[in-house]
Amino acid sequence: MSGIPDPIVPAAVSIRDGALYCAQFGDVYHSIEGGIEETRHVFLSSNDLPARWGQGGPFSIVETGFGSGLNFLATWQGFRDSAPANARLHFVSVEKNPFTRGDLQRAHELWPQFSEISAALLDAYPPLMPGFHRLHFEGGRVSLTLLFGDALEQLAELDASADAFFLDGFAPARNADMWTPELCAQLARLAAPGATVATYSVAGTVKRALAQAGFLVEKKPGYARKREMLTGRFPGNWRAASTPAARVAVIGAGIAGTSVALALARHGTAVDLYEALSAPARATSANPAGLVRPFLSLEQGARNRFTWAAHGYAVRHYDALARLADGAWQRSGVLQLPRDAVHADKLQRALARFALPEAKARWVDAREASQLAGAPVAGAGVWFADAGWLSGRAACLAGVRAAGERVTLHASQRILDVEAGDDGCRLRGARGAAIATADRVVLANGHRAAQFSVCAGVQLRAVRGQLTRIPQRAPGLRAPVCREGYVTPSIDGWHIAGATYEEGAADASLRTADDSENIARVQRMLPGAFDAVDPASVRSWAGVRCASRDRSPLLGPLVPGVFAILALGSRGFTWAPLAAELVAAQIVGAPLPVDRQTALGLSVSRLANPSR
Ligand code: SAM
Repeated sequence: MSGIPDPIVPAAVSIRDGALYCAQFGDVYHSIEGGIEETRHVFLSSNDLPARWGQGGPFSIVETGFGSGLNFLATWQGFRDSAPANARLHFVSVEKNPFTRGDLQRAHELWPQFSEISAALLDAYPPLMPGFHRLHFEGGRVSLTLLFGDALEQLAELDASADAFFLDGFAPARNADMWTPELCAQLARLAAPGATVATYSVAGTVKRALAQAGFLVEKKPGYARKREMLTGRFPGNWRAASTPAARVAVIGAGIAGTSVALALARHGTAVDLYEALSAPARATSANPAGLVRPFLSLEQGARNRFTWAAHGYAVRHYDALARLADGAWQRSGVLQLPRDAVHADKLQRALARFALPEAKARWVDAREASQLAGAPVAGAGVWFADAGWLSGRAACLAGVRAAGERVTLHASQRILDVEAGDDGCRLRGARGAAIATADRVVLANGHRAAQFSVCAGVQLRAVRGQLTRIPQRAPGLRAPVCREGYVTPSIDGWHIAGATYEEGAADASLRTADDSENIARVQRMLPGAFDAVDPASVRSWAGVRCASRDRSPLLGPLVPGVFAILALGSRGFTWAPLAAELVAAQIVGAPLPVDRQTALGLSVSRLANPSR
């Protein structure tokens, strides 16, 4: 996964004799007689479902072959109908040739009984880009993690503890890759003690590969005309995982802290959210219009893989939050202009190399760029159609509201250090005063975390940034335009231009020179529109970001019991939702929403090894 992944080739789907047929493999997705009943028999009943999730807590299923999503829909519907309130379903499915959204929609017309959940799936269905895509449903009680790419490559990157496996590749004779000993070894790596496995296939190769990987396999009666099917069990006693009872303290109620509080609440965990100021999003996350957008680069390191995944996740997340907070999120599209000819060439090469879907990013000439932006811009650039801008405060407040009663906000409560011990963590305030205890702590307090003893050696940096509000000059501007900085459309009569980047400065004082810098950049991006802005007419705002030495976020355990969601730098609004889900999944033991290499590349351990 360290190289550039192959672009995804969608499934070539048609309907033959009433069943979905795949031209690439010359096989049907489901047996002609079966469909839903076959799924229930082979995959649900044979894994002892719904009885096992009926015990409550999280339950994780790993499937090989997402196909039409019928198994997922039938599982979700079964969970919906029967699981207790404290149960959570994590469904992870790998797929090399995913359906396009249109094909998925047409396929689902075959199963009108699932129309409600199918509509929710179609609404969230990600673009066909390689790698991990996490989707949430039912207020977070059901998650689907789609791994687009080859099963063996993708499963080798999954970090999860699976309670059950659905093995649903095409018939082994046509699709040997889905049943190899190497793939079964990955299943064994992922298996919780006593995990179960079920498949319709009784091919000798499958039986042997599973047995060799350590599963105890057994034939059972098959569905309809199929006489037999296979089930298996991994050694050990399966026990329902208890709902994570731990009480988690989150320090800082900006975009990182409110996102992690919401993510934990969705997993069913109670959170105490501590904020030094009088309300959420009073410091750097008070940014009235920060961009949420992907970044194009020729590198394919952890930071870039994470950024693409985080952008897709953030868009779905803010779309959902925007239903709670009108105007918080504007998915307007964002235009990026290159700095110079060399940069233009790099951007174009990155577009070609990653074969990005046009709905994500495409090169536009100067005329189209100006049309899309709604005002004349300096030249050609990249159009990110599903990007936009976010009001940080509105998003943070909506996040806390969405989290509901599982999150208790402690405003005006400044935590200055954390001590982790065998019996939990102690939060300390001024002069070492003991303020509270918690089972786990998440530091989400940006550059202020640098003062905490657990961050000694992590080298967090403060990076001051100033925004300038300019009275409306380009009323037609519909989308933010960016180059070294950015400028937004007029919001309540003001364009917001920013942001400066001053490393090592931790004060939010306002500087006239910064306003001049912001104005000069805007003048270059939108020639003519912002000429001769009167400096006395602008208003300024400043915040202090937090960055790491290598400018990647710092996510995951710092010491046992204490986790970081820090160093989000200038990309906080884009990175925070997925960063939060990653940290929450680490805390509660849910499948991780990103591949293992990416999680490692963003962990504190990478800082000990600067060559990573
Ligand atoms: N579970 C699916 C459903 O509910 O519709 C049906 C799965 S279908 C029988 C098998 C799936 O495996 C196909 O969607 C196919 O594209 C996928 N597949 C085949 N080879 C693969 C590979 N090497 N890696 C990942 N997926 C693969």
